[in-house]
Amino acid sequence: MFYRVCQEDCIACGLCQLKASQLFHYNDEGIAHPSLPKDAPIPNELLVSFKEAYISCPTGAIQRSNEPFE
Ligand code: SF4
Repeated sequence: MFYRVCQEDCIACGLCQLKASQLFHYNDEGIAHPSLPKDAPIPNELLVSFKEAYISCPTGAIQRSNEPFE
């Protein structure tokens, strides 16, 4: 599974950092972005954490796909 963050929808709440700190980094304004390259699948051992972050995001800014994003 692959993921990305819609920068326009992120409200810098920090929940994804709490749920999956290895998968998200932040800019100076607290907007999240993936810590993995966009063509790198989420490691199996992090899938549970990712799903918790995905479910927790209040704005749906975290997107997932079975294929790499463009
Ligand atoms: S949980 Fe969603 S809104 Fe909150 S920082 Fe992460 S991507 Fe942004």
